[in-house]
Amino acid sequence: MGTEELYPPQRLAAAQRATAAAGLDALLLSPGSDLRYLTGYDAHAGERLTLLVLPAEGEPTLIVPTLERPAAEASPAPATGVRIVDHPDGVDPYPLVTAALGGPVGAVGLADRMWAEQVLALRATLPDARQRLASEVLRELRIHKSPAEIAALAEAGAAIDAVHARMGEWLRPGRTEVEVAADIAAAIRAAGHVTVDFVIVAAGPNGASPHHGTSDRPIGVGEPVVVDIGGTMPSGYRSDCTRTYVAAGRPPADFLDYYAVLWEAQCASVAAVRPGVSAEAVDAAAREPIEAAGYGDAFLHRTGHGIGLDGHEEPYVVAGNDRPLAAGMAFSVEPGIYLAGRHGARIEDIVVCTTDGVRRLNTTPTELIAL
Ligand code: ZN
Ligand code: ZN
Ligand code: ZN
Repeated sequence: MGTEELYPPQRLAAAQRATAAAGLDALLLSPGSDLRYLTGYDAHAGERLTLLVLPAEGEPTLIVPTLERPAAEASPAPATGVRIVDHPDGVDPYPLVTAALGGPVGAVGLADRMWAEQVLALRATLPDARQRLASEVLRELRIHKSPAEIAALAEAGAAIDAVHARMGEWLRPGRTEVEVAADIAAAIRAAGHVTVDFVIVAAGPNGASPHHGTSDRPIGVGEPVVVDIGGTMPSGYRSDCTRTYVAAGRPPADFLDYYAVLWEAQCASVAAVRPGVSAEAVDAAAREPIEAAGYGDAFLHRTGHGIGLDGHEEPYVVAGNDRPLAAGMAFSVEPGIYLAGRHGARIEDIVVCTTDGVRRLNTTPTELIAL
């Protein structure tokens, strides 16, 4: 897909309208997913100021360090209509912010994950401006993925599926989790990702810790192994997929019992996705069969999270989120069962809510995979 489809120029104007509607005079966006969403620029976050100044009305300005001007100009940003200005090392860049705003401001929306040193410097530069979060404005835009964004997520899904499909090459009893993870990381890059965002290889008792990374512990015969992996594609969009494997031998009988429950729960949760259904109903569809089988306390986390330019973003599939799903929302469905000290399992697919149901972006089998 073309960069212009993925980062269309009219997105800036839509963000400006939303900024005005939210009662903000401008958005101030430092390097991160919001800046990339609006301009396509994958900016380097550093101590030197890079900032998109997006007034509710008027010309958007991208302030960059002089040494990063070539990178900014080579990015899709100029095609979106932003004016680029730069500041050399040793010169205070903050007067450029005031100039780009073109007048006094009462309220600004800052990138949610802006560094504190920049938040405070902007407060000193604009002492009369109330600081709010840019997500007040951008959340609604980013939660509805365009067809080009869905295509980018599908491409990421296919890339991570290709890695899972090769797991038998690496995952064997006697190898440590770290050794297996190194092979997986190389394969994540080989499959087309530009960065490896995380590699969880959690065997046996480590599988009971949902965010275990890796360890030097060798994988045992017949042990269940939770493998949760993801990366970022050149498009900026991300993958995230979990499968549970058994490395040779027979897994414990109690594990087989609850894996069957988990599999049913994940299928039921995916099947519940369609426009108008609330995010929390999708969570409940996973949770109810797990609770009915007596494993409710072992399902330690929400069912899922949105995904896009960030690995975790809205919508969150969690009790209390009564927001109705709509076509174009993309998120994970990843119930898990974790028995402390013994083993655990998780099944995770990225799905997209479509106009009449759901589309899975991960398509490798979700049944327990014996290697
Ligand atoms: Zn997680
Ligand atoms: Zn995951
Ligand atoms: Zn996830």
